[in-house]
Amino acid sequence: MGQPNDSILKNAYIELYNMNREGYKNWVTAVQDLLLKSNDNYLKSTWENQGFRIYSKYKIQRLKVNIAKLLQDRFQKKWFDLVNKNEALSVRNNIEREWVPKNKLRTYRIFKTDYKLESYLKANMNINHRKSITYLRTSSHQLNIEIGRRFNIPPEERICELCNSGVEDEYHFLCACPIYKDMRVTFFRRLEIYPEQDGQYPKEKTLKALFEFGKDFRTCRIIGDFCYQMTQKRNKLLELADTHIIIIRTVYS
Ligand SMILES: [Zn+2]
Repeated sequence: MGQPNDSILKNAYIELYNMNREGYKNWVTAVQDLLLKSNDNYLKSTWENQGFRIYSKYKIQRLKVNIAKLLQDRFQKKWFDLVNKNEALSVRNNIEREWVPKNKLRTYRIFKTDYKLESYLKANMNINHRKSITYLRTSSHQLNIEIGRRFNIPPEERICELCNSGVEDEYHFLCACPIYKDMRVTFFRRLEIYPEQDGQYPKEKTLKALFEFGKDFRTCRIIGDFCYQMTQKRNKLLELADTHIIIIRTVYS
């Protein structure tokens, strides 16, 4: 508002401001909501005095910084709610006419608690190892928990084909499936992850140890190697299982 009276920008703003006061919702309405609903008195007073008191470079800079922080905080809160609240991740069941929780992010929300760039993305590591971590973290993999979702198979029926002892989700694959026990024990020893008294790795704690990255790049590289070797082993075993079934069918047909 400190601009000259013949400024096109200022006149456009005044027009929108007056429309907002008359009850028409527009860009100014969104700015008003943003500033008045913040907990920042500086931003609230900026709206109330319509920027007339912002005349120094310092005050303009402070306004920019405060608004940027406000927008960042709001985005992070929205992101966190979306990842963690079931109602935000529900789908409409048209047959029973009710909201059903959608669990695509069931594993991701265990370890992803902060909106930040993960350190494994900054570490100097093999590109295939890095990809393997990303696929498993974001459920962009070929495990049955994900493949079954595409074919509408109930989650409890998305069983591991290699051991038949449980649902093949990220936890089963990385921390529980007996087929990969030797490889798991070797890598987990290097990562200082040890089973609890019952011989099992606790789900939440272990997934966090694997995917809630600190700043230690060496650990990132071990985890990348682990995810890659595990994925390669699974692919080979399934390939062998398929070949085995084909041979049996050929012999007995
Ligand atoms: Zn298994």
